[in-house]
Amino acid sequence: MHTLLNSIDAVANVEGLCYPKGFVITDKYQRSPTYPNIFSGGVCIALPPVEVTPVPTSTPKTGYMIESMMTAIAHNLKAIIIDNTAPSTQGASQAICLADMGDTGAAFVAIPQIPPRNKTWFKQGKWVHFAKIAFERYFLYKMKTGNSEPFYEKAMLKALGIERLK
Ligand SMILES: Cc1cc2nc3c(=O)[nH]c(=O)nc-3n(C[C@H](O)[C@H](O)[C@H](O)COP(=O)(O)OP(=O)(O)OC[C@H]3O[C@@H](n4cnc5c(N)ncnc54)[C@H](O)[C@@H]3O)c2cc1C
Repeated sequence: MHTLLNSIDAVANVEGLCYPKGFVITDKYQRSPTYPNIFSGGVCIALPPVEVTPVPTSTPKTGYMIESMMTAIAHNLKAIIIDNTAPSTQGASQAICLADMGDTGAAFVAIPQIPPRNKTWFKQGKWVHFAKIAFERYFLYKMKTGNSEPFYEKAMLKALGIERLK
């Protein structure tokens, strides 16, 4: 089987788990339709391309969208293991991004991440570079304290119309 440079044979070669290019097939609950005990989230999952491009490209996947997928997986695993119910949580697929380019940067919001969109916002400037440094510290603090979505972050993003889960 042909695999992409960034795919892993041990995953890509499992019959029915991935498309030929090595991206993992999931349903809307991040679950493999072939192997119900396998969930997947992140850059490695298969999403249909947004449009045909001269050089084949996949659908963009950014950090917040991936946090959404992983949050959905955590909820769905709890549903199965602890609550004995079917998975029902979906990631919201929204992009909120600070892209650091060294001496400048770009910040954007895209809701939903894949067009057609209800909301888009974009700003460029050196402030994004510093915002990214601050965000990195904040993010590491969250990971160290084991609270991936503090209530004040959730409330602030919700006020802006941005939510992790559908
Ligand atoms: C240059 C660059 C800039 C970006 N900037 C932004 C940004 O500003 N904002 C934003 O939201 N998103 C940004 N992104 C996108 C974002 O980084 C990714 O969407 C996100 O990190 C993907 O998370 P992931 O967990 O799916 O994969 P990754 O973060 O790539 O994690 C995969 C992990 O698997 C490990 N791994 C790989 N193969 C194996 C193996 N065989 N065995 C064990 N481990 C393995 C890798 O070492 C890696 O740690 C950027 C991406 C790039 C490349």
